[in-house]
Amino acid sequence: MLKKQYILEAIIISILCEENEKRLILKTDRCKGCYLCVEVCPLKSLEASGELNVKGIYPPSLKAGSKCVFCGMCEDTCPDFAIYVVKVEK
Ligand code: SF4
Ligand code: SF4
Repeated sequence: MLKKQYILEAIIISILCEENEKRLILKTDRCKGCYLCVEVCPLKSLEASGELNVKGIYPPSLKAGSKCVFCGMCEDTCPDFAIYVVKVEK
């Protein structure tokens, strides 16, 4: 008889940018490649990366030479809660 069942998920977390105690985080495998975050970023700092995730999608990454001001617009727009800003306590 089955007594217990567990679903275990390995979550790959990528830090796309880190500055002044803030981080832009991506849950890489959660991304479905809609690129709404790329469209909404006011600085146009995001682009599709060159690395596939488990879904066969190229998740976003920060463009070389671009900056993030941690405005959170990508976080507010992402339908899958894959990209978000966190404050790092020191
Ligand atoms: S909005 Fe979310 S799901 Fe869409 S590309 Fe960006 S991180 Fe991926
Ligand atoms: S937090 Fe703001 S500036 Fe940074 S990538 Fe997202 S939308 Fe662009």
